Amino acid sequence: MKKIFSLLVLVFILSCGGQKQIIETNPNKVEKVVENTSEVQTEITTNIPIGIKNHINLEDVKTSLEYLASDALEGRNTGTKGIEKAAVYIEDIFKKNSIKPYFKTYRDSFNVKKIIGYNVVGYLEGNDANLKNEFVILGAHYDHIGTAKAVNGDEIANGANDDASGTVAVLEWAKYFSKTKSNKRSVLFTLYSAEEMGLKGSEHLAERLKKENLDLYTMINFEMIGVPRAENEIMAYMSGYGKSNLAKQLNIYGGDDMIGFFPKAKEFNLFMRSDNYPFYQEFKVPAHAISTFDFTNFDYYHHVDDEADKMDFNHMTNFINKMIPALEGMINASFKEIKMNNE
Ligand SMILES: [Zn+2]
Repeated sequence: MKKIFSLLVLVFILSCGGQKQIIETNPNKVEKVVENTSEVQTEITTNIPIGIKNHINLEDVKTSLEYLASDALEGRNTGTKGIEKAAVYIEDIFKKNSIKPYFKTYRDSFNVKKIIGYNVVGYLEGNDANLKNEFVILGAHYDHIGTAKAVNGDEIANGANDDASGTVAVLEWAKYFSKTKSNKRSVLFTLYSAEEMGLKGSEHLAERLKKENLDLYTMINFEMIGVPRAENEIMAYMSGYGKSNLAKQLNIYGGDDMIGFFPKAKEFNLFMRSDNYPFYQEFKVPAHAISTFDFTNFDYYHHVDDEADKMDFNHMTNFINKMIPALEGMINASFKEIKMNNE
């Protein structure tokens, strides 16, 4: 069977019956194609991004997540060989996609007592002569806790949801924007280490960027986006919801209500508990975390079973895709329309 890809429509030519059938389809789903009375099953695993809404490929999401959350990376604890492998993997994706180092190298190093940690920071310059001096930061932490209480002899805490999932999202957007060059503002793609040691990596980077007077417009931290919320719930929520109009604006840009308010995020003060917070502290600009983990939809937080096979790759791919128009709207707005609310 031959596959021909066009921008919006996948055209299948079923050579066996000599008949042509046109099917509008999602490249990430297994489609069943029925022709005459004989059933032909087609598994679609294209590497070619198609359509306006489906830029992100499920197989890429899966491959990166499975690697980052594999036992070979030993739970990605800061200062270990496992996290070094994760950093090299991230750097390779940046290199292959012409994402430049923002500093001399991709690594932004710091110390936590005697341990050396490093954030990985990629840079994509904006395409607008004026707006490129303003920055948007997209981030996630790529470290995890190494080991946890053993279950059936397994003590590696793989951190698939926390936060290999957010890391993969940031990498996929880096690939997307490097391909489309559709960003008027400059974007930093930032993966933090030592989040699990108390936000040490993001603290270091936020301070460093503040010292050099970076003109930061907004910062979004993606935390645990590997599993969907219940069907009646809004897709994702934002910590610190009422502090700025970021969620509202993202929903406008994306043309869909996908980011909402989650009462528990306020109750547990999640705004202060992840890598967005140091950026808010240093810059006092909208800096929030977006998550699809709501304490009811995943039982393996900081547990050895937070593994790749527990992730919902359709959900992840869908989330990463759906965020693209929202991010583009934010990155390309002609003035800084996302602001802190006067609380
Ligand atoms: Zn986390």
